[in-house]
Amino acid sequence: MRVLLVEDEIRLAENVAAALRDGPGFAVDLAEDGQIGLYLAKDRCYDLIILDLMLPKLDGLSLLKKARASGDRTPVLILTAQGETRSIIDLLNAGADDYLSKPFDLGELIARTKALIRRGKGAAHPMLTAADLELNTLEQSVRRAGKLIDLSPMEYRILEYLMHRPRVVVSKQELLEHLYDYNWEHHSNVIEAHVSNLRRKLDAASNQPSIETLRGRGYRLIARREGSA
Ligand code: CA
Repeated sequence: MRVLLVEDEIRLAENVAAALRDGPGFAVDLAEDGQIGLYLAKDRCYDLIILDLMLPKLDGLSLLKKARASGDRTPVLILTAQGETRSIIDLLNAGADDYLSKPFDLGELIARTKALIRRGKGAAHPMLTAADLELNTLEQSVRRAGKLIDLSPMEYRILEYLMHRPRVVVSKQELLEHLYDYNWEHHSNVIEAHVSNLRRKLDAASNQPSIETLRGRGYRLIARREGSA
């Protein structure tokens, strides 16, 4: 998953970015002012935007309104400072999904972040299942047919992304856009290598295939048990 963090307090931004990268393993892009934030929000594909309100060049509420006016449906978590609580109704009315008041606990921020991303993808529960696959987003563990599968962080992220989109063909480009931040040099053969290792590990635990490759189109998680409707 890929998160855009728009925050001008650099130390706070770096702490939050590090927590999101190290904890849930999200790719994080940082924007230090509202203009860059709006540009990135429109130009890239994010699974969540974390937005400070008091920002240079363009404030968070204006950024949010512009993004929503242009049809952006990405979940938005607002970071509010003390004294800004009166604007919460305005924020929610402008299309914010949640807010957190500074100073906040990083653990709470991560939990809200994960919940918003899940809900943005239509999954309310932290346990994702597809056929005999179970992915626990809290433990970041994966089981197939009850057997624990040891995945690398990137293999886990790819599977988590695919499990949010069962039965849908996901292109390599989409995976690159949602799993890497803007500092990454995009090479789709990196994705191929990770998917190949992921599939080998998953399929060692079952006699059913887990991930289909559709030539020139991408990957599809096989989400049904054999014989089920
Ligand atoms: Ca600020």
